[in-house]
Amino acid sequence: MSVSSLARKCKLCGRKIPPGTGIMYVRSDGSILFFCSSKCMKNMIKLGRNPKKLKWVAKSMSS
Ligand SMILES: [Zn+2]
Repeated sequence: MSVSSLARKCKLCGRKIPPGTGIMYVRSDGSILFFCSSKCMKNMIKLGRNPKKLKWVAKSMSS
């Protein structure tokens, strides 16, 4: 299976990230997180909140 063919999903909002876009974030423990935008990355990293608790996330999860 080719990695490049996999559609990545934003770790925070769950939106699909087209190849070549989005942000890859590597945590200090070595795990890799993908985000659709810097906004989502900052929300996840800075706030450290559970994405399921964010109200605006619920809307984008339907797709
Ligand atoms: Zn996102």
